[in-house]
Amino acid sequence: METILLLAHTDAVGTLPKAALEALSVACTLKTALPGRLVVGLIGENTAAAAAQVATCGAERFLAVSGPDFATARYASDAAAAEAVARAAQATIVIAPATSRWNRVLPGVSLRLQGRADTHVTGVAVTEGKLTASRWYYRQRMEATFQRAQRPWVLLIDPGSQPVWQGAPGTASVETVAVTLPDASRRTTVVGLQSPPADAQTIRPDADLLFVTGAGWTKKQADGQSHVPEAERIILDFLKLSRASLGSSKSLVDLSGEGVSVLSFLTHMNQIGQTGATPRHQKGLSTCCHGEEPHAVGWRFINERRAIDLNPNCGWARGKADVLYVADAFAVMKKVTELLASAS
Ligand SMILES: Cc1cc2nc3c(=O)[nH]c(=O)nc-3n(C[C@H](O)[C@H](O)[C@H](O)COP(=O)(O)OP(=O)(O)OC[C@H]3O[C@@H](n4cnc5c(N)ncnc54)[C@H](O)[C@@H]3O)c2cc1C
Repeated sequence: METILLLAHTDAVGTLPKAALEALSVACTLKTALPGRLVVGLIGENTAAAAAQVATCGAERFLAVSGPDFATARYASDAAAAEAVARAAQATIVIAPATSRWNRVLPGVSLRLQGRADTHVTGVAVTEGKLTASRWYYRQRMEATFQRAQRPWVLLIDPGSQPVWQGAPGTASVETVAVTLPDASRRTTVVGLQSPPADAQTIRPDADLLFVTGAGWTKKQADGQSHVPEAERIILDFLKLSRASLGSSKSLVDLSGEGVSVLSFLTHMNQIGQTGATPRHQKGLSTCCHGEEPHAVGWRFINERRAIDLNPNCGWARGKADVLYVADAFAVMKKVTELLASAS
């Protein structure tokens, strides 16, 4: 019988973030399908709230490594904690969210445990009693499904690819796992966190909505003029109120390299498509973007798609969006932002 360990680190307030709850739903599914026994392993400064949050998930054991040493991401302490929990659980399968913190650490931990690790896993299934994982390769063009005989097998689940575990909180009996930190962990001290102001942070992987801007925002409009400062204001106001994640077409981010006036907050990191990102959001709204195939392939994982474009024959009209509004995006988004502002 497999022992499935859900390995999660807590967030700043001591609870489990969405990505961890998605990984937990995978672990619970495997527990039933294999079948196997489930162990929850928590790492963080304080793990009590997280244990209570998932107390009713059906785990046989709750293991925790807590303390200030485990508050923030640091390879040496995270690896030592993950290794100690995996050994205490005698895990044969380790399921963890593919956060940047775990992606960095768990492949190394799997080597210490003489196991194997796979990152960016987007699906797991049980076929004829055997665990099968799947992930994408070559910029989301090819999907592979595979099995491994080696144990423990560490699977890092891509956030946004799984349903979030839903369950009532409760009381969990937590076993503390002692970790002796290696000297190497003393070499790195986290002195604080610096992040850009919330308004400058336009890429938000956890947002429900992907808001895409296209080159049309910088093009001449009906009055023969372009209105880039106005476009900037409308887009930033909308992002601030909606907390959507900002994506862009390639044409728009490329324009800056050609000396054309562009939206100052866009970089190539925002680009969606064949040569850009393939994000996972529940909904997408495209504005002033034609919806050509190299762009639209980046929408592969967006479930509900809408677009606003002046051109009724644009790419979105050819089955790439659920709804196309043939309208002026300046006017529509201005109105939407006013409505959001009055509702907030
Ligand atoms: C090898 C290769 C790889 C590529 N990879 C990517 C990629 O990864 N991502 C990507 O995005 N592109 C990619 N492209 C480019 C892609 O083919 C398109 O050229 C690009 O997506 C077009 O961007 P756009 O729709 O913003 O601009 P445009 O084609 O200029 O479209 C602008 C749109 O705005 C509309 N518009 C203008 N004013 C308004 C208004 N007021 N209200 C509403 N609508 C308005 C117009 O009707 C028009 O449809 C790639 C191309 C190649 C050859």
